[in-house]
Amino acid sequence: MNAATGLPTAPVLVLLGPPGAGKGTQARLLEERRGLVQLSTGDLLRAAVAAGTEAGSQAKKVMAAGGLVGDDIVITILRDRLGDPDCARGVILDGFPRTTVQAQALDELLAASDQKVNAAVSLEVDDAAMVSRISGRYTCSSCGEGYHDQFKPTAAAGFCDKCSGNQMKRRADDNPDTVAQRLTAYHAQTAPLITYYEDKQSLARVDAMGDINDIATALDLVARRALA
Ligand code: AMP
Repeated sequence: MNAATGLPTAPVLVLLGPPGAGKGTQARLLEERRGLVQLSTGDLLRAAVAAGTEAGSQAKKVMAAGGLVGDDIVITILRDRLGDPDCARGVILDGFPRTTVQAQALDELLAASDQKVNAAVSLEVDDAAMVSRISGRYTCSSCGEGYHDQFKPTAAAGFCDKCSGNQMKRRADDNPDTVAQRLTAYHAQTAPLITYYEDKQSLARVDAMGDINDIATALDLVARRALA
């Protein structure tokens, strides 16, 4: 309950996992099942780059190299987005936090409105499989639905199952060299957050190596428990 407004506080779920673990795919499925809003800092940063904002131009090179964008930029972008009215339904954070500084900033931001992270879910995967997982992925330019050459192809080649759009795109940073850098950044800066949330007793682990729908079911169970 928010002390100031008396309204129920919105649930906050964090998805952790290396690039290719399926955070985006699973966040979208959970969004549909639970009515929460998916917030991807990667998407917000790509939009800032495309819009040519100051933050976007600072982030562009770092993203192309597979590093992490500065905490100040990412925290500001996320804070602004969290203030949008739709986020009052509750959010699934996909790709944020990625550093301890970001995790602490998130805790402070949420505490200011009597909120907290309800659960942080670590999508557990085998690093060796990540490069091939990432190099096969693409998304629909119209609705953003994610696909994979091998694991989740479109039903009709070239056409989105969801919106029938026929423009598909692949991310510039989904190439083997950049993916290797992104995995390094994950292990050095983001993996310690598993212990951060474990210490707060809000961590859940989900095996994310299997079938997409089985993983979604396991994640939904965690979400249901966390939001109960
Ligand atoms: P993603 O779409 O989550 O794979 O993110 C793509 C890229 O955006 C990452 O490789 C980083 O360069 C940047 N990025 C996304 N989220 C964050 C974050 N929370 N902190 C720092 N950089 C981020």
